[in-house]
Amino acid sequence: MAPVDRPQHERYDYICIGGGSGGVASSRRAASYGKKVAVIEVSPHLGGTCVNVGCVPKKIMWHAADLADKLRHASQGYHFEGVPEPKFNWETFKPQRDAYIRRLNKIYENNLDKEGVEYHAGFARMTSASSVEVTRPDGQKYTLHADHVTIATGGRPTIPSDDQIPGASLGIDSDGFFDLEEQPKRVAVVGAGYIAVELAGVLHTLGTETHLFIRHDKVLRTFDPVLQDTLTPWMEHTGIKIHKNSKVVKVEGEKGKPLTIHKGDGQTVEVDCLLWAIGRHANTENLGLEELGIKLDEKGDVVVDVYQNSTVKNVYAIGDVQGKALLTPVAIAAGRRLSNRLFGPEKFKNDKLSYEDIPTVVFSHPPIGTVGLTEPEAYEQYGKDVKIYKSSFRSLYFSQIIEHHKEPTVYKLIVVGEEERVVGVHIIGQGSDEVLQGFAVAVKMRARKQDLDDTVAIHPTSAEELVTLR
Ligand code: FAD
Ligand code: NDP
Repeated sequence: MAPVDRPQHERYDYICIGGGSGGVASSRRAASYGKKVAVIEVSPHLGGTCVNVGCVPKKIMWHAADLADKLRHASQGYHFEGVPEPKFNWETFKPQRDAYIRRLNKIYENNLDKEGVEYHAGFARMTSASSVEVTRPDGQKYTLHADHVTIATGGRPTIPSDDQIPGASLGIDSDGFFDLEEQPKRVAVVGAGYIAVELAGVLHTLGTETHLFIRHDKVLRTFDPVLQDTLTPWMEHTGIKIHKNSKVVKVEGEKGKPLTIHKGDGQTVEVDCLLWAIGRHANTENLGLEELGIKLDEKGDVVVDVYQNSTVKNVYAIGDVQGKALLTPVAIAAGRRLSNRLFGPEKFKNDKLSYEDIPTVVFSHPPIGTVGLTEPEAYEQYGKDVKIYKSSFRSLYFSQIIEHHKEPTVYKLIVVGEEERVVGVHIIGQGSDEVLQGFAVAVKMRARKQDLDDTVAIHPTSAEELVTLR
């Protein structure tokens, strides 16, 4: 159903501001309990970051890049004849990808409808703890009233200002990446986190000359050292030019023309596209939050307690806007559990999401999976009780591939105490994105190393290494 043009109820039980991963999940769950629910979304496309400019189009591009690698392996390792060097047609693929995303937007709309959630299109601003003003795209305003309001407005990419770095605005961010109509021939990606690693990997694997500017000497510095130490040199080995310990100080050129990137050491690099991937910040401006006494932290994230309560009664925040674990399944789980607690049966009256042991994957080449404590975190928490099991190997798939393309696989388990409880699993290598989920269940269930050892291996796989580590 299309958005409504005016409120259909005098008062709602629940309003979600933001129709992204968290807002949609939470509102649908509340409506499933028979509540009167409204969702307000400012973008013409429902689904938020993940669907429109995040996980989904990113993973599709990762699949394209992965196929490029596989085509190379087919001809160079597995003796397939007639497979030419892959040439990706970005111009024709992008509209196909976009069309798929538009279909997902429609599915999101239908799902709201099926559950009976009222969809309001417009910009939301809180005028009291129980009223939200909606400014529609045509400029008309109306106000919705509700017993409970959840802020689920997500975040957006951070880009340095032109005052901080002259010419910074000549660059794009991850949203702009998904708007690119053509594949850039040469790109400079700035950043060392998830997005920088993933998008640099996609672009490079699809054939773009890729420069990655990082402030230190490794990517993914918040991840376990074994992952940083394996991925950084492998990215370089594949041909990504990593400019370590570097700082972009100036950008010269014109939009749509070659850009000159000036580094702090006086060197320059010429590229066709500059992509900032240096983090994200919460959408908390102009929402009326501080006026109502809703506390934000110094970064601008909404401060919440373990139940997603903000500092104002009956106002909550879920997902990226609360600044912890910026991941789609986290926003969804927090949103559903909040609705369970507010509107569900008695058994859910204390429902809340545990932010411990959240598994996550980086879609690098090869991919990374990680859950639990990193080695430094484990030592800090458990001191000498920590024991590390680790294995580095080449998966069987790469046995037939020429040396240059043999991707590394490294698996690491962190266990503590006499019982050797598993508190961290860190893996990199082909298939790690799919392998991790089951091991995350084991960590959540407080599995011991012995429980893994007691599980019969599945052979021949890479994953079996995790149950045979010595
Ligand atoms: P969002 O999905 O951002 O939704 C917020 C919504 O609120 C938006 O639609 C916005 O338009 C709307 N809004 C904002 N202000 C207002 C207002 N005032 N009034 C009305 N509406 C408003 N996570 C993963 O788990 N796996 C991945 O592989 C992954 N890949 C990613 C790749 C990229 C490039 C990016 C940028 C992110 C990725 N993420 C990934 C993170 C994931 O997208 C987010 O964690 C998730 O979308 C957060 O959901 P949310 O509901 O908190 O916010
Ligand atoms: P991240 O926080 O992951 O990484 C940003 C990194 O950029 C920092 O860690 C920092 O690394 C570097 N950086 C920060 N400021 C600067 C600067 N001024 N100049 C140069 N480098 C800088 O942010 P992302 O934008 O990559 O992603 C945002 C979030 O979205 C992620 O944290 C993740 O939660 C989510 N996401 C999840 C994905 C997934 O699940 N696969 C994929 C993409 C995003 P250093 O300190 O080493 O310089």
